[in-house]
Amino acid sequence: MDLRLTDAQSRFRDEVRAFLDTALTPAMRRGAAYTSGVFAEPEVYRPWQAALAAKGWLTYFWPAAAGGPGWGAVQRWIFETECARAGAPVLPGMGLKLVGPVLYTYGTAEQQARFLPALRSGDHVWAQGFSEPGSGSDLASLRTRAVRDGDDYVVTGQKIWTTQAQFANWLFALVRTDAAVKPQAGISFLLIDMASPGVTVRPILSASGDHELNEVFLDDVRVPVGNRIGAEGEGWAIAKFLLENERGGTGYAPQLLADLDRLVEAAAPLDPVLADRAVRLRLEAEALEMTELRTVIEIEQGNPPAPRSLAVKLIASEVRQGIEALAVDAFGLAGLQLPEHRPFHAEDAPGLVGPPEAGLAAARYLNARAWSIFGGTSEIQLTLIARAAPATIAGW
Ligand SMILES: Cc1cc2nc3c(=O)[nH]c(=O)nc-3n(C[C@H](O)[C@H](O)[C@H](O)COP(=O)(O)OP(=O)(O)OC[C@H]3O[C@@H](n4cnc5c(N)ncnc54)[C@H](O)[C@@H]3O)c2cc1C
Repeated sequence: MDLRLTDAQSRFRDEVRAFLDTALTPAMRRGAAYTSGVFAEPEVYRPWQAALAAKGWLTYFWPAAAGGPGWGAVQRWIFETECARAGAPVLPGMGLKLVGPVLYTYGTAEQQARFLPALRSGDHVWAQGFSEPGSGSDLASLRTRAVRDGDDYVVTGQKIWTTQAQFANWLFALVRTDAAVKPQAGISFLLIDMASPGVTVRPILSASGDHELNEVFLDDVRVPVGNRIGAEGEGWAIAKFLLENERGGTGYAPQLLADLDRLVEAAAPLDPVLADRAVRLRLEAEALEMTELRTVIEIEQGNPPAPRSLAVKLIASEVRQGIEALAVDAFGLAGLQLPEHRPFHAEDAPGLVGPPEAGLAAARYLNARAWSIFGGTSEIQLTLIARAAPATIAGW
């Protein structure tokens, strides 16, 4: 695929490359290369986040009115492609990509003034408190309750699979404020200070040995009513807006293509059967890249194509799992190493042999199983696509 950039776009790409050459240090690249989880961990991403914030590019997909650089879809794609190719750490999305847009779309002026600057500076680290034991795909059945008491809600319940909650100082959570109405109508969206009395975080270790996930227990946690986003009972609509941002749109393909290229280079020469798999994965990722671009351009034009943006996350999950399976097969015994429990950048893991693509292949393979689960499982995505497709099939 030959995408020709305009002169202005080429100049922008050169500006991004020049910035990456100086701001993305070898230590940052190395930390990113040794990350086996979905996101880098704070030790790795903080310096990179600070460099982006100083340049004004941290919130690169926010509109200018909310404090973003005001880039269009193609600029964002160029930026993501260059960052992925350069091996930049993948920043956690819970703050910047998920709660940020909720705040500038639904937050009051006071809430925006309070929370957006701390998000931009990285002072607030966010976790997502949606899922509960028994309420994942069927999220509307959630039971964490928030009972009004004066100017506070008193929140009691349990969240689970809370990514990076061990590092977070804020949690955005769906809570039940009314049990008497239909499930979706009784949910509200609260911002919870993790330092509040009654918040307990317990680790869940993944099969890969990574500590990315947690349980979060909320026992009579007092949350000011002023920390509610939107009206009481409006939480479900806000959650749907947030999940659309989580699943659809942008940024998967550049990372997949860059990771696949690094894998093929590190494992060269691949035997013909594996080389054929690599080529097929590349074709899938390139097709996904075009779909992502079409989607974000259509969103920019105010015409979001629901089934296509749902398909983006589904296909990205399949390609991600295909790449990690290829890595395990390509490196033989070296690809089966699974270091003991460790932080999920394993640079110092004892006895890790070969390049990170080999040494972390098994951990990444196991972690990548989660791609078809988080943010809505692939089965659920397929159902939603099937429901939405008949109305728009002509537009595909
Ligand atoms: C790595 C990882 C990170 C995560 N991070 C977060 C986070 O930060 N915050 C957060 O709130 N949540 C997080 N989650 C939770 C995630 O959103 C849920 O795991 C997911 O929505 C599935 O819910 P469940 O685990 O309860 O599985 P279930 O909903 O119990 O599903 C079990 C199986 O049944 C299938 N199934 C269920 N219902 C249907 C149906 N109607 N039709 C067909 N098949 C169905 C599912 O596809 C799945 O295969 C994370 C999960 C993972 C794995």
